[in-house]
Amino acid sequence: MALTIGVDVGGTKIAYGVVDEHGAIIERGQRLSPAGSPEKMALTIADAVTELAARHTVEAVGIGAAGFVDETRSIIRFAPNLAWREEPLREKVAELVGLPVVVENDANAMAWGEYRFGAGRGESHVVCVTVGTGIGGGIVLGGQLYRGRWGMGAELGHMQAVPGGRPCGCGNNGCWERYASGSSLLMEARNNAEADPEGAAHLLRLGGSVEGIQGEHVTEAARQGDRVALAAFESLAVWLAQGLADMAAILDPGCFIIGGGVSGAADLFVDRVREEFAARLTGRGHRPLAEIRVAEMGPAAGLVGAGDLARLR
Ligand SMILES: [Zn+2]
Repeated sequence: MALTIGVDVGGTKIAYGVVDEHGAIIERGQRLSPAGSPEKMALTIADAVTELAARHTVEAVGIGAAGFVDETRSIIRFAPNLAWREEPLREKVAELVGLPVVVENDANAMAWGEYRFGAGRGESHVVCVTVGTGIGGGIVLGGQLYRGRWGMGAELGHMQAVPGGRPCGCGNNGCWERYASGSSLLMEARNNAEADPEGAAHLLRLGGSVEGIQGEHVTEAARQGDRVALAAFESLAVWLAQGLADMAAILDPGCFIIGGGVSGAADLFVDRVREEFAARLTGRGHRPLAEIRVAEMGPAAGLVGAGDLARLR
């Protein structure tokens, strides 16, 4: 049985585990992410790998990292929320653990996990859209992970949806993720609660004040029928659908997978995404509709995908 280790490195924690060829996690662990120090990061990852490799016979290590990873899957050029700049993570960890290592963008690893073992099973052309604080993405075309020429592809959240629109952390304005993410959902809810406190009665009771409203309050209030919370989900659905329709015009996938933290409330918006997608797709009525599915693997998709990519390296 061929085992690998998958590691999912985020800004606050590192999740890791031993993964088999069916995508099952044999053993897993979690550590705090030393986000401010590339040296400590490499040591922490290596330490976690060494601990697991002492108990299991593993053949390789896959690391999914929240950053821009180069086309050789070795160097993290830049990470917005971590201290990596031109970081040779593959080499550093491989030296410390004595195993082959591949480094992959975390959203790519997550998409690969869902494609192989989750909601994308059976499809060859899959676009995974991770809706959290921002929007991440991964693209599988013809059974291959699409990375682009320099490894920087599939930054779906930074398509410009609104020229001159809301400012984005990337330095541009009007990026899709400023309209179709968890943070835009919360912003809509807060703004509209201020304008329409009567329609936001549930929201304001849960949050205590406009500023006190949190993401989970928007979900809970929407389930209670709160007008403002429902409108925020409606806006999210329409913006998501438009982005998916635009991507379908270019990539023509068989299915989209909606993942990330916001997908936990998918029952509140995914049917509307399907309707609006069908109403906005170019060539509609004369082509099959891509399926829009909800991710199945939860937060484990990243480490499972990274482990699997290491096996297939
Ligand atoms: Zn942006």
